[in-house]
Amino acid sequence: MNIALIAHDLKKQDLIDFITAYKDIFTEHDLFATGTTGKMIANETGLTIHRFQSGPLGGDQQIGAKIADDEMDMIIFFRDPLTAQPHEPDVSALLRLCDVYKVPLATNEASAEILIRGLGSGWLDWRAIKEKRVRYDE
Ligand code: PGA
Repeated sequence: MNIALIAHDLKKQDLIDFITAYKDIFTEHDLFATGTTGKMIANETGLTIHRFQSGPLGGDQQIGAKIADDEMDMIIFFRDPLTAQPHEPDVSALLRLCDVYKVPLATNEASAEILIRGLGSGWLDWRAIKEKRVRYDE
């Protein structure tokens, strides 16, 4: 599965710790991330990460485009709810597209843990059934 990883600055270490804890599961999937998040995860965990632009420079929108193209299966986005973000409209757009295309989304450790344990248990195998997914171009 294709998994996108994003963390606002004050949440980046939390995301690295989370990925380290579940590295055995993450290592079996294709990982994508916004620029700075991806660089830090790769450095700290050794995992291979496909990096987009930094979030404020369009990375969230690039991941959103992947969702719209049906190329993302899960988004883990550790948001900082207490700090204003210059690219808040991009963040909102990304979260909206997860709902439009029914892509599993976690925005904190508690929900991410459920998603990743579900992934490890095969609960998200339905994502492979393409014809069941929402498509708006047919
Ligand atoms: P970054 O972007 O990984 O480049 O810091 C994340 C974000 O703030 O959206």
